[in-house]
Amino acid sequence: MSAVRILLLGPPGAGKGTQAQLLVDSLGVPQISTGDMLRAAVSAETPVGCEARSFMDAGKLVPDAVVIRVAEERLAQEDARTGFVLDGFPRTVAQAEALDALLERLGCTLERCVAIQVDVEELVRRLLKRAEIEGRSDDNEEAIRTRMEEYREKTSPLVAYYRGKSVLAEVDGIGSVDEIAQRVKEALA
Ligand code: AMP
Repeated sequence: MSAVRILLLGPPGAGKGTQAQLLVDSLGVPQISTGDMLRAAVSAETPVGCEARSFMDAGKLVPDAVVIRVAEERLAQEDARTGFVLDGFPRTVAQAEALDALLERLGCTLERCVAIQVDVEELVRRLLKRAEIEGRSDDNEEAIRTRMEEYREKTSPLVAYYRGKSVLAEVDGIGSVDEIAQRVKEALA
């Protein structure tokens, strides 16, 4: 595996978090999940958490300015110097442009964007199952529908964005965790 500055892109429930976890274990670089960071901020009731909470509960994207600040602070930390697996950031073209600008300032580039593809019916089925197991506050049916719509409208244009930068690899996200991990690994080779 060669790429170490990686973005996992895909709709909610595509398995980004699971695959990101497997990648960080094998690559030894940090997973950077804005969703996890925002949930921690909500739990800790920080100013960022208070701002993000209502958007998250409704399944809406948190405003770009808030998320970009959170991601920039994290990416500037020492452990992200050697590489990272981005999971859930960027989610809009404005965020992708901010990421490009930041990486340029840090003297590096994104080496690969792996887009995990899963059809909508399978995604909703997975998310409702996760709701039963994890009890996430945004895993109710209405919030799930909103998150899908937000993905379609605001995040899916990033597939073309990264294709245009010649760093896109598309991976079929249907199958066992191991099968998908193997496809991701091949996409990064
Ligand atoms: P996730 O755990 O990645 O599914 O993110 C959960 C929620 O956090 C999303 O539905 C958004 O409300 C918010 N969120 C996480 N990452 C971002 C982002 N890059 N841009 C905007 N909102 C985000």
